[in-house]
Amino acid sequence: MANLRGPHLHTPLTLLSSDRDALSRVDPAMVAPGEDARYLVTRAGEASLREDESGALRVALETADPRGGAHQPLVLLGRRDGLRILAVEILEPSAELDDPGRDLRDLRRVADLMVPDDADLALTAVAMGAWHRSMRFCPLCGEMLEAEVGGWVLRCREDGTEHFPRTDAAVIMAVRDSEDRLLLARNTNFRGRFHSVLAGFVEPGESLENAVAREVAEEVGVTVEEVEYVGSQPWPFPRSLMLGYRAWVPGPVELTLQEDEIAEARWFTREELAAALVAEEIELPNTASLGRALIDDWYGGPAEV
Ligand SMILES: [Zn+2]
Repeated sequence: MANLRGPHLHTPLTLLSSDRDALSRVDPAMVAPGEDARYLVTRAGEASLREDESGALRVALETADPRGGAHQPLVLLGRRDGLRILAVEILEPSAELDDPGRDLRDLRRVADLMVPDDADLALTAVAMGAWHRSMRFCPLCGEMLEAEVGGWVLRCREDGTEHFPRTDAAVIMAVRDSEDRLLLARNTNFRGRFHSVLAGFVEPGESLENAVAREVAEEVGVTVEEVEYVGSQPWPFPRSLMLGYRAWVPGPVELTLQEDEIAEARWFTREELAAALVAEEIELPNTASLGRALIDDWYGGPAEV
């Protein structure tokens, strides 16, 4: 299968495993029931998963239409092994969809335990589910929207406007100083000892590189002089696309923290990071995240205790 990656970094959750078959979405038969249909149930960032014989997590594809009588759109995720893979988002608890036998797992927590081939399907299903969950009514007139084009377009019944899935660009950057130390911070929203590299959303009218420089200046008060793009990763919780950067600041510089966002931040040498992990002073993001890939990229291998 194709293995399309950013220019420098091995980014997790980016293996292109299934054929999205986007050109077939216009055929309504592609989201009709049939023997070649398999269904993947999602709910607010969770996907229906199963453990395979080796203990790895895979998507749990169902052969029967799980909607029962519920009126919910199906999304054509693509084809695999001659089968049509259709995603169904559970919007509200219902007798049909609330099957206690389903194992719905939060992908943010378990994506790194998934078979890579399946993580791609599950992330797309969760992303489209989040969109269908949030876009029920026309933002222009408030009328109901109806799914078209294999669930990838919503059209207003009243004014006919088309609405498309959105992705919010966010930059995430490993900031290094002239001594090759890495900046790690604890956001005020982070739990416990959790530390990561800085990140933030791209603002309208801004380039990605400017977003990196602005976020670093805002959050820790230092001026980035050089940035380098390394790769991207979908992070559909609910709809982000993470764009990863290495960034450099000249010389060792003092940090000025934006207090309502950054609880702690400091520069780490590799030895200091290793010691902080052993002493359990800090905890890093899990290996499914681009943040962790950026930290490991700087560290020169997996930064583990
Ligand atoms: Zn409308």
